[in-house]
Amino acid sequence: MAAITPMMKQYLEIKAQNPDSILFFRLGDFYEMFNDDARTASEELELTLTTRDKDATKTEAEKTPMCGIPYHASDAYIARLIAKGYKVAICEQVEDPATAKGLVRRDVIRVVTPGTVMDGATLEEKRSSFLCAIHRGVDTAGVSFCDLSTGQVHVTGFVGKEAVSGLCRELGHFEPAEALLNQTAWDDASIRDFLQDKLSCSGELAQGFEMSAAYETIVAQFGEEGHNQMPMDNPSVALSLTGLLHYLHQTQKTDLSHVNQLNYYQGGHFLALDLSARRSLELTETLRSREKKGSLLWVLDKTKTPMGGRLMRSWLEQPLRNIAAISKRSGAVEDLVGNTVSREELASAMTGMGDLERLVGRVAYGNARGGDLIALASGLERLPVIAQWIAGFTTGRVGELSQGLDVCADVCQDIQATLDEKQPLTIREGKMIKKGFDPEVDRLRDLLDGGTNLTMEIEGREKEATGIRTLKVRYNRVFGYYIEVPKASIDLVPETYIRKQTTANAERYITQELKEVESAILTAKDRVVTLEGALFEQLRQRVMTQVRRIQDSAAQVAELDVYTALARVAVANQYCRPTVDESGTIDIHQGRHPVVEQMLRDSLFVPNDTFMGKTDQRCAIITGPNMAGKSTYMRQVALMVLMAQMGSFVPASSACIGVVDRIFTRIGASDDLTAGQSTFMVEMSEVAQMLREATRDSLLILDEIGRGTSTYDGMAIARAVVEHCANPKTLGAKTLFATHYHELTDLEHTLPGTANFSVAVKTRGDDIVFLRKIISGGADRSYGIEVAKLAGLPKDMIGRAKTILADLEAENGIQSTVVVADDQLDMTALQGASIVEQLRRTQVDTLTPVEALNLLYQWKQGL
Ligand code: ADP
Repeated sequence: MAAITPMMKQYLEIKAQNPDSILFFRLGDFYEMFNDDARTASEELELTLTTRDKDATKTEAEKTPMCGIPYHASDAYIARLIAKGYKVAICEQVEDPATAKGLVRRDVIRVVTPGTVMDGATLEEKRSSFLCAIHRGVDTAGVSFCDLSTGQVHVTGFVGKEAVSGLCRELGHFEPAEALLNQTAWDDASIRDFLQDKLSCSGELAQGFEMSAAYETIVAQFGEEGHNQMPMDNPSVALSLTGLLHYLHQTQKTDLSHVNQLNYYQGGHFLALDLSARRSLELTETLRSREKKGSLLWVLDKTKTPMGGRLMRSWLEQPLRNIAAISKRSGAVEDLVGNTVSREELASAMTGMGDLERLVGRVAYGNARGGDLIALASGLERLPVIAQWIAGFTTGRVGELSQGLDVCADVCQDIQATLDEKQPLTIREGKMIKKGFDPEVDRLRDLLDGGTNLTMEIEGREKEATGIRTLKVRYNRVFGYYIEVPKASIDLVPETYIRKQTTANAERYITQELKEVESAILTAKDRVVTLEGALFEQLRQRVMTQVRRIQDSAAQVAELDVYTALARVAVANQYCRPTVDESGTIDIHQGRHPVVEQMLRDSLFVPNDTFMGKTDQRCAIITGPNMAGKSTYMRQVALMVLMAQMGSFVPASSACIGVVDRIFTRIGASDDLTAGQSTFMVEMSEVAQMLREATRDSLLILDEIGRGTSTYDGMAIARAVVEHCANPKTLGAKTLFATHYHELTDLEHTLPGTANFSVAVKTRGDDIVFLRKIISGGADRSYGIEVAKLAGLPKDMIGRAKTILADLEAENGIQSTVVVADDQLDMTALQGASIVEQLRRTQVDTLTPVEALNLLYQWKQGL
C-alpha cells in the first residue's frame, strides 16, 4: 500500500477527533471533504465526487474520494447540511502559509450544529434558535436553553410529578433546534418521544453534566451572581447549565463572553401554557397550515426590529402572573397609546434598524465582518433619534428607558470613522478602512493607484524611446510586469531589454525599472491588505469591549419596539387597557376574537360579554349548533386573558381579568384531524394530564370533549370531566365547556357555579341564521340538518335526513323539543313506552358497565 501523504495524515488525525461531524478541511481557497464525508456531502449537496489520487496504478476502490466547495460560498452549503441534520466541523489553516515551515498547521476552529448556527442566512429573523440541554435526576429535571446568536440563556427546573410534564411544556415553548440529554433523560422514552414526535428535534446523548465541574463552569461564564441564581433544591438545573456550557465550549472553541445573560425562571412566574393550548389557540402559527398569518402573533407583531420581533414572540409565549410586572408593561403601552407623535416617530425610527443583538453577538463571537460592523453602526445611529422621541416621558417604564438608554455614540463614531461604508466581502479584498483614517494605508493606496499610472507612463515612455507603437506593458501572475513587443517589431528592441518569453506572435521582456516598480507595487498590495486587516482587528477588539453596553441598548430598543407595536395595534383595532388583578374574576364587556375579527372581510364581528366569577358562573356550559361560534367565543376569552397577562391591551370595550395560573385547551378528537393524531386515546390522555395539573386558578377550555367515541361513552366522560372541573371540592377551575350533549345542561341545577349559555340562532323554515350572540340558557336543539343545508348538502338528501330523524325520534320516543312544547302530556307516556321498547332491544351481554349506567341514567332522566 502506498504511504499516505503528510497532509492526509493530518487530515485523518483531525477527522478521528471529530468522528460525528462532516469535516470541512481548508486547502487554499477550498474546503475539501474526503472518504465517507465526501460521499455524504456529494450526495446531499449535489457536488461532483472526484478523487485525490492521480496514481494510475490504484484501482478505483483504492482511491480516496473527495469533493470540495469554495470557502467563500461555504455558508450556504453549511446551512444545507445543518438543515439535513448533520454537524459540520470547520478546519482552518491556523498559521500563515507564507511563514509556515513544512506543512501548515490546521485545526478545527468551530463545529456548527443545528442549535449553534450563527449565520444570518440560516437564522429566521424574528425567531430565536435554541440549543437546549436536559438533565434528569431521580426526581428532578432541569433544562437550559441558549440562543447563541444573542447570548441569552434561559434555565428552569421541575421536581416531583411535574418533572417530565413541566419539562415537556418548556420544550414545547422554546422548540429547540438541538437537544442534549444526560443518560437518565436519554433513558426516559417520554422525553425522547416528545422531542421527536412533537418537535421533530432529535435528542442526543451528551457528556459534561458533571456535578464536580458545575460550580467552576457556571462561575467562569456568569460569575458568582450567576451561580447564586441556581436553586438549592433542584441540582438538575445547575447540571443542565453545566452540560450546555460544556458543549458550547467543545463545539465553539472560542471566547463565549457574549453569552452573559442568564435568566433563571420558575414556572410559577409565568402563565403556563402547554403545547396543546399553544397550538390550538394558534398563538404563533395556525393549526391547519402552520403559518404565521392567522395567528395571534400575526395580529400583534407590528414590531420593526428583529430583536423586538423575538421579544414579542417570547412575551406572547410566556405571559406573566405578577400583577405589578404586567401593569408596568400595559402602563408603557398606555403611555404610547396616549402620545401619537412619539408612537409613530418611534416606529419609523426603528424601521430598518437591523438586528443589533445578533450583530453584536457576531462581534463578541469574533466572526463579524466589515459589513456587520457597518450595519451595527447604522443601527446605533438610530439610538439618539429613539432617545429623542422618548425624552418627554418621565414616569413609568418608558420614563425609565428614557433615562437609562445609552446611545453608544462613541462606538458608532468609532466604527464610522474607521471603516468605509462600502465593505468588501472578505478581509483579503482590502478597501475596508476609510480614506483619511490611517496615513500609511492612504500612502500605500496612492502607490497602488499610482502603480497603474506608473506602468502606463513607462509604456508611453518606452514607445517614444523605441519607436514601437504597438509595445505594451502587461502583467501576469507568472512573470509579473513585462513589456510585450509583436514579432514584427523585435528588431527595434533595445539591448537593455531582457527577454523572458516567446509566444506565437510576440516576445516578452523585462527591464530593471519594471522590476523595481513591480516590487514596490506588489509589496504595497500585500502591505495594505495586512495593515487593513490589523486595523480592522483593532476596531473589532475596541467594539468587543463595548459589547455589554450595546447588548443593553439593544434589549431596551427591543422592549420599546414591543410597546410601540402593542400601542399601535391597540389604537388601530380599538382595544382597551384591561384591569388585571387577583380578584379571580373575568369580566369582559363587548369582547372580540382578536384574530377572527381581522379575518372577517364582509361581515362585522359580533362582540360578546363574559362573566366568570370566583364562585358565581365559574363554569359555563355552552351549547349551540355547529358553526354557531362556540369555539370562537371560548378562544377569545382565553386569548384576552393571555393578552392581558402579557401586558397588551385587549379587544373589548372594557375588561377586568383576574390573573390565571394556567390555560388548558382540550379539543374533541375529531376537531384535531389535521394534527394527524385524531385518536380518542390522545384526547383522553391530554384530558388526564390536564386534570393532574390544573388548579382552581386555571382557565380550562374544553371543546366537544368525548366526541371521539360512542354517544353514551362520550357523554358519560364529558359529564364526569365537567363535574370534576366545576366542583370546588374536586377542582373548581374556571371552565368553558362547549358540548353537543344537551343532556349536560341540567348540571346547572345540580352543580353550584355552573351556568348554561348558548349561541343564538334564528330559523325560518329549514334555514338557519347565526346571530353570533352568546345568550343565557341551553340551546333548544342541535339544528344539524339546517347547518347541513347551509353547507350545501343536496335538497333531496336534506329531505331524506328529515324523514330519518323523524323516524328515529318516534322510535326512541325522543321528539324535538319544539314538538314537546306543544304536546307535554303525551311525552311522558311516550317515554315510558320507549324505555320498555329500548330494554327489549338491548343486548345486555355486550353492554359495558359504563354504557349500562348511562342507559339507566338516560331513562331516569326521561321519567
Ligand atoms: P362552532 O365552534 O360553534 O362550531 P366556530 O366558533 O368555529 O363555531 O365559528 C364558526 C365561524 O363563525 C367562525 O369561523 C367565524 O367566521 C364565525 N364567527 C364566530 N363567532 C363570530 C362572531 N362573534 N362574529 C362574527 N363571526 C363569528
